[in-house]
Amino acid sequence: MSVPTKYVYEFAEGSRDMAALLGGKGAGLAEMTRLGLPVPPGFTVTTEACKVYLATGEEPDEFGVEAAHSLAALERAMGRTLGAPDDPLLVSVRSGARFSMPGMMETILDIGLNDRSVTGLAKTSGQERFAWDSYRRLIQMFGRTVMGVEGELFEQAIAALPQSRLRSTGGTPMAQRAVATDHDLDTAELIKLTEEFKDIIRKETGEEFPQDPADQLARAIRAVFDSWNGERARIYRHREHIPEDLGTAVNVQAMVFGNLGTDSGTGVAFTRDPATGESGMYGDYLPDAQGEDVVAGVRDALPLSELKILAPGTYIELGDHLRTLEAHYRDLCDVEFTVERGKLWILQTRVGKRTAEAAFRIAHDLGDDGTISTDEALMRVDGAALTRLMFPRFDTTPADVPLAHGVPASPGAAVGVAVFDSAEAVRRAAGGEHTVLVRRETTPDDLPGMIAAEAVLTSRGGKTSHAAVVARGMGKVCVCGAEALTVDPVARRFTTESGVVVHEGDTLSVDGTAGTVHLGALPLTASDVGRALEAGTGTGQLTQAVLGALAHADSVRGLEVRANADTPEDAARARALGAQGIGLCRTEHMFLGERRALVEAMILASDDTAREAALANLLPLQREDFTGILKAMDGLPVTIRLLDPPLHEFLPDRTELAVRLASAVHPDPHDRELLQAVERMHEQNPMLGLRGVRLGLAVPGLMAMQVRAVAEAVIDRLGAGGRPHAEIMIPLVGTVEELRLARAETERVLAEVAAETGTTLDCPIGTMIELPRAALTAGRIAEAADFFSFGTNDLTQTTWGLSRDDAEASFFPLYLEKGVFAVSPFDSIDEEGVGRLVELAVEAGRAVNPRLETGVCGEHGGDPDSIHFFHSVGLDYVSCSPFRIPAARLEAGRAAVADRTGTSDTR
Ligand code: PEP
Ligand code: MG
Repeated sequence: MSVPTKYVYEFAEGSRDMAALLGGKGAGLAEMTRLGLPVPPGFTVTTEACKVYLATGEEPDEFGVEAAHSLAALERAMGRTLGAPDDPLLVSVRSGARFSMPGMMETILDIGLNDRSVTGLAKTSGQERFAWDSYRRLIQMFGRTVMGVEGELFEQAIAALPQSRLRSTGGTPMAQRAVATDHDLDTAELIKLTEEFKDIIRKETGEEFPQDPADQLARAIRAVFDSWNGERARIYRHREHIPEDLGTAVNVQAMVFGNLGTDSGTGVAFTRDPATGESGMYGDYLPDAQGEDVVAGVRDALPLSELKILAPGTYIELGDHLRTLEAHYRDLCDVEFTVERGKLWILQTRVGKRTAEAAFRIAHDLGDDGTISTDEALMRVDGAALTRLMFPRFDTTPADVPLAHGVPASPGAAVGVAVFDSAEAVRRAAGGEHTVLVRRETTPDDLPGMIAAEAVLTSRGGKTSHAAVVARGMGKVCVCGAEALTVDPVARRFTTESGVVVHEGDTLSVDGTAGTVHLGALPLTASDVGRALEAGTGTGQLTQAVLGALAHADSVRGLEVRANADTPEDAARARALGAQGIGLCRTEHMFLGERRALVEAMILASDDTAREAALANLLPLQREDFTGILKAMDGLPVTIRLLDPPLHEFLPDRTELAVRLASAVHPDPHDRELLQAVERMHEQNPMLGLRGVRLGLAVPGLMAMQVRAVAEAVIDRLGAGGRPHAEIMIPLVGTVEELRLARAETERVLAEVAAETGTTLDCPIGTMIELPRAALTAGRIAEAADFFSFGTNDLTQTTWGLSRDDAEASFFPLYLEKGVFAVSPFDSIDEEGVGRLVELAVEAGRAVNPRLETGVCGEHGGDPDSIHFFHSVGLDYVSCSPFRIPAARLEAGRAAVADRTGTSDTR
């Protein structure tokens, strides 16, 4: 017998383990209710109900009865009836998905107010102004969110009120600059505004604002369901890789009021500082205000420590609840709270978002004091956060006086040109420009611009404002609340206190760690963490936390991490960062610069003698390259790939040459010769042309020269007392026959050098697997290979039939927007397609050659999600750019822990 699905849960019926069904917020409310924290009663409509509604346009059949039942329970608990004329119960209706999507979906407060109950509320609260303010807020929110009225129309109605009738906000510097807010309206104005708002709704929709509280509630719940598919929410999900089909839960909760006078207020509190990880209560408090005012940053909040002075008892009680929550969740928690006439209510809790720095410090501290295990501590940080910490910071001098100071909301350093709206940030970023998005405050509509910009700068709002929360989540540099700036988005400029005017297009440097903004581009230097990682040691709590996490990752990971490096300098840097060898040394990079002339000579050679002479000139240079790299990686494997790209890449551009020849009075005969060669070698589709192993087989002497250079470098290093471990890798093999021919030639030269020098050369020979045919015939290819290295750049290109050079700038934005890809398959491995080929090839290769070594050296080798995949298919190593090595080590460790402990969410 199947258990009937339940679509509505009262808070006391749920728990933290039910986040998939109740959403993060609903699960948190349920858990706090169980813990006995003061949570206003309410119920949660499940994500399943949302899914049914989004699929059919109707709530499930059982929903109506269940919701009515839960509402009746809520009314009983509160001793009041929703929207009753004399003493109304009011409720809030809030979204709450499985994964936090701050500000991306809708919230409607004060449901239950109408023309009659507003007077009841005025009477019971004893505050007429408050009652009308609540009513006009409801109409405004409901009108915009549920009835689809342009929000700007309500704002205009507020702005149109005569300035002379606005009250002053008091003595703060901000108020002295006469910034008028809707907080200043008196009762008569609020009553008038309420009528105006109703008129706006009537005019825009042809409908009246609904007076029936049950109707308000039902429509508000639907609006929250619908907001799952709103543009903001979709963009956010896309960016955060949140699946589209989860749906949102909806929380209906008794309203409590923070705007009932000076003994009321609202705030956000964290169990630790989410910016630095420092332990101790932290947050913002806004007296006489509703919760949305804090998040919107419309008014400047007080630091939470002020609450200690304003209401010491409440402060102590809040501290107790925060400690309870952190001990229970064993992690940083944040709460939204409201104080209603001296009574503390907790409205939400969750494991709080944090900066990269805070993530490492908190994980380390909780691991250190035994709250969590070292495995858990490792799972609390990730490679993306580590990479952010390695980013450079500004190298300022005392002469670099900032234009302004603000709140250091999200750390890091960024340089870009000022832009004043989201669209401009997006437009300029598409042209490759770095921008700083400057706003008074951001709203969820600014999301595309925040994604596109390098940094976000606002003149209002604190650490918990929208700008701060979203930027931190994205790892984007952010300074907010730079109050000294007067931002004029219409004239597209801002003015500082000292009168400096910054126009759109002017360059700014934003320091999100210090909270400063500077005119012009400041020089950047490596971060302390970056330095410590290269040095392998360092002081400071953050550095210790990072090194501790990496040490644990190194101790548990199965994947080795190697580097893609082609110079001794890169090799040394990679080794310092923890590389366990070189997985890909691209030799073509050694054929550039002044060596181009030698390569040209080889290509233009008219006979064997001329070609051999050209190759002989290249040989000592290559040998020197390899010697340097083998020295930098002494004792570790160095995989040297033979020449891969089509030779014409080393010749001048065809059009340029043709123009040069056509416009020269005395054409250079060398140019003419070059042009003939370029034309002879021209291919319509060079990526599928004479490259990789084909080149080695087609150009006599080329492969032999490179193998000889490797072999002689090994001999040199042995002579110098080193421990060289060179491996030779053949690129773009499609059939075992190619590899057999290349292998025979390689072995012949190795034997020749060994005989000449009287040395034994032990040099594994392997191949790249970067063509679908190679993957599909991997069993055959393994007969002739000591190792496989997956070239997932080309493998992605050839599996999808997508040009790796063009596709991303061409139709990828469209494909990403339409959801064809959640992420570019060149960035993160396409597990189903390309990944499947990798898996097949590993299995088939190992079946034939159990000692076959397998690795990946395409860009995916440094991508966190891909690393988890490569761990799961049992590769021996990943290889990536030097700067990605620490993150790769960390992710390889996390993959191993996730595997061992069965943790599925690795993000
Ligand atoms: C690859 O194709 O994944 C690879 C590593 O080789 P390259 O990028 O040099 O073509
Ligand atoms: Mg390749």
